[in-house]
Amino acid sequence: MYFLVSGRRGAHFLRAHSRKLWLAAGVFLLLAAAGGWGAVSFLRQPSESVPAEPASQEDSSVLTVPIIMYHGIREEEQNRYLVSKERFEEDLQYLRQQGYTTILLSELVEYAKDPSKAPEKPIMLTFDDGYWDNYLNAYPLLRKYGCKAVMSPIAKEAQEAESESQRNIRWSQCRWEELSDMCRSGLVELENHSYDLHSIQGGVQGAARIPGETEEAYRSRLTDDLKKANQLFQMHTGRTPQAFVYPYGAVSEGSRELLKELGFEAAMDCEEKINVIHSSEDLFSLHRFLRPPELSSAHFFERILKT
Ligand SMILES: [Zn+2]
Repeated sequence: MYFLVSGRRGAHFLRAHSRKLWLAAGVFLLLAAAGGWGAVSFLRQPSESVPAEPASQEDSSVLTVPIIMYHGIREEEQNRYLVSKERFEEDLQYLRQQGYTTILLSELVEYAKDPSKAPEKPIMLTFDDGYWDNYLNAYPLLRKYGCKAVMSPIAKEAQEAESESQRNIRWSQCRWEELSDMCRSGLVELENHSYDLHSIQGGVQGAARIPGETEEAYRSRLTDDLKKANQLFQMHTGRTPQAFVYPYGAVSEGSRELLKELGFEAAMDCEEKINVIHSSEDLFSLHRFLRPPELSSAHFFERILKT
């Protein structure tokens, strides 16, 4: 499940065990099935039966790229969305030992156009929601190992972090200066995770179309929000995001076309599959594996990377 509840400043908690949210997800899935509002790709569970494919580039016209999804990097009580610093470092060491090259989203866009430019074993590491621990704990390790990462902060929460007086690693978000500091290193790129669509309440499921919402209203709502986020990223980092990262992995029919109209070149969901990219069109359904905290690096990566 993919329940990162985005609350107000100072109240941003990871609620992986909330029964209410599980219930809400059930209701949502029923609505999705009954309402016929499109191809909803939502709330996928990790599965041992996911067909893995070789991650090395055997066919020069095809790009095979696993994408890993992290959230918080810190110690905490049991929580599926928190990976310890030590575990994350173990991941980076493992990938280096196995000959993987971490890539940015902008590089993936280029490699999709010309797979011959891609490294032999590319992999993308992504961090959702912009937690302060990404800056405090993950970024120093990225620097230590020269690894790249794609971070997708919630723009409104980055804004609100600016005025937060008492910051705490357990709930605070990165501020713009911290985000831009990471970008300047060349190791981190920021992608759009919405300005303020990161919620699952009142019929809203992230950036998915709300049941009963007209197409026009949906397009207008999504356009306004994503443009607002893009402007903030451009203003603070000098780069406009190339990808949209669907909050909760909730994808609606029609959103792909709208993302293209808005200038995006890629979109990421939470479906746990290796990406086999034949053309740039495939970049609009990039899948990602949630990194569970309890597995060793070898166990996790071997499960998803090997045939
Ligand atoms: Zn998120």
